[in-house]
Formats: sequence, structure tokens, C-alpha cells
Amino acid sequence: MSSQSFQDSDDRGTSAHDARPVLSGARLLLADRDERTASAAAEALRDNGVAQVHTVGSSAAFLEAGRRPPSTVRAWDIAVWDSGLGGDDDDLTAFLGEWYAQNPGVPVVVTDEAPSTRRALAALRGRAVDMVERDDLPGLIAAVSRARHQTPASPATGPGPKPVSMLVVGAHPDDVEIGAGGIVHLRADEGWDITVLTLSHGGGGGDPERRGDEALRAAEVMGARLVMEDLPDGSITDDSSTVRIIERTVAETRPDVVLVHSDSDTHQDHRAVHRATLVACRRVPRLACYQSPSATVSYHPNRFVGLSESDLEAKLAAIKAHGSQAGSRWYLDEDLLRSTARYWGRFSQARYAEPLEVIRDATPLGFFAGDHG
Ligand SMILES: [Zn+2]
Repeated sequence: MSSQSFQDSDDRGTSAHDARPVLSGARLLLADRDERTASAAAEALRDNGVAQVHTVGSSAAFLEAGRRPPSTVRAWDIAVWDSGLGGDDDDLTAFLGEWYAQNPGVPVVVTDEAPSTRRALAALRGRAVDMVERDDLPGLIAAVSRARHQTPASPATGPGPKPVSMLVVGAHPDDVEIGAGGIVHLRADEGWDITVLTLSHGGGGGDPERRGDEALRAAEVMGARLVMEDLPDGSITDDSSTVRIIERTVAETRPDVVLVHSDSDTHQDHRAVHRATLVACRRVPRLACYQSPSATVSYHPNRFVGLSESDLEAKLAAIKAHGSQAGSRWYLDEDLLRSTARYWGRFSQARYAEPLEVIRDATPLGFFAGDHG
């Protein structure tokens, strides 16, 4: 691919070059049971642009510094807490609850000697924004950079947590509907905030204006917002101009999850969009590929999202909204769409499913759960 400069930047945002703008000016409170570990972490954070790091050695001092920041600090932006200062899982959850009661807007990254699913669950229950291994400094810096832009989920008594933001990228109108229409409907129903980004008007397959209207209606049926760009159908590139166009929507929607075409695809536009999206979304923690009708046998799905009858009906209705294409495309045949979903259902616990090939899932528990049927 030609956008070498994009590829060179660290995927996890851990290089000083990358993280500095993100962390620049941040004021951070850090607790660790060991002074040497604390000062190594503080030094690495400062190297990455954090303006002030105040370290403490106990949970009590952590809470106290939360209540009364030193005179040079107006307020904390982020806190890092060593779970070894707490007790068992319930203590961990309770301690985080205490922190957030006192500092509702200050996200906590938890460091842990040996993060386990059980530990991560306890941290999630306590609304920690992340859990990283205690001596993984690059991991800590990446987590802190991400936390800078997160607000911890509100407690059950407050307003609801920020909905999950999902961005689904396709080269042409109807690509997203065919590959992930059921998933979009399912997640929209669950309250996710979903944006479909279509990079061309599909002029090669009909009147671009009509296809634009159809795409809008289809997005509505699935419960998503539509952003439509105007790249040339058939000759979409994976170079920096495409990357920048995708980055625009990424910056605007701040996705937690991105779905896109797979690289194992015979259509050059689909492959280009896959590659450009990988670059544009290099800091998005979760990315997976849906199946296009032009996917090759090298497409290897490893997650299967179970769909209900109504998810499948919404998918079919969204595809029908692309009326200009009906009849002229073999892959829009309803019988084929239905039986494909039924076939993938075999790998889920639901009657129907859509497959995903997970490229990245940087969540302690694994975000793309096997089945939601
Ligand atoms: Zn397409």
C-alpha cells in the first residue's frame, strides 16, 4: 500500500511521536504499592506528554489526593490505580465505586499483576475504563491515551452509559446491508449508535442519485445513520486520500467497533476499502470483517453473531430498499440471502447468523461475543 507514513505510526499509539498530542497537558494521579514501579510509570507517562503525574502508595492516599489535588493541579484528568492495593474482586469493585462517587468524571485505568477474566470483570463492574498488566508500560500508555477521551460509564442511578459507537464501512451502497445488515439492526435495537459509511455512490451500478436515496432508506430500515462519500466506483484506492476520508468519519463518530470488507475479496474496491480502513482505524480497539458476496474462500470467519427473525427481516428489507439493483444482481436473491444466514446460524446458537472475521479485539473479555441470538 502506498500510505507508508500512516502504516509506520504505532498501532497502539504508544510511540512518543503518536501519543504526545493525545496526552499533552494531562494531569494524572497514579497509585502503586511499589515506589520504583510508580516512578518508572510516571517517567514513561511524562515522556509521552503527560504534564503532571502525582504518585501515591496507598488506596487511602489515592482517595485523599482525589479529594484534594496538590495546589499545582486544578483537577485530575485520569487516574491509574494498582489493584494490588485493594483486596479481592469485590473490594476492587467497591473501591472503584468509592472513587467514582467522589470523582465522577475522572476515568480510572486499573493495573493488575496478572489480569484475568475474573479480575477484568470485577474492574468492569467498578466501571474502570481499562485493565492492563502492571509492568506493561507501553500498554499503560496506550490505555491512558484512550482513557483521555473516555468518560466512565455512569452508575446505574445516573443517566445511562454512553452508547457503544459502531462504524460500518462499505465501498458501495448495499455492501453493508448484505454483509452486516442483521448485525446493524440487532445492535441498533440494543441502543448502539451506528454509522454506515459508504465510500461511493455506486455509479457503476446505476444512477448515483437514485442509489444515494436508496442507501439512505436502507440505513433507516437498519437503524443507522448514513455518511456517503463520492469516490469513483470501480477505482477506489487504498492510498492516503481514501484513508483521510475515512479518518474524517472516525474522528466524528469515535467508534468503539468498526466493521468493514475483508481483504479476501475478488472486488478491487472492497480490498482497497479494507486496507484504507485498517489504517484509518488503527487506534480503534475492535475491528472485524463482514462477508461480501465477492469474498473468496480465504475469508475465515471466527465469530458468528446470532440473529433473530426480525433482524433478518430488517436486513432483507434494507436490501430491498436498493430497488434499482433488484433483479439484476444474483447475490440479492432473497432465497440466497436467507439460506446464507441460515447456514451461518449453524455456528451460533441462533437460527440465523452473520459471520465476522475478527482482526483486532483489544478488550479484556473479548468484545465480539460468540453469539447474541
Ligand atoms: Zn461492493
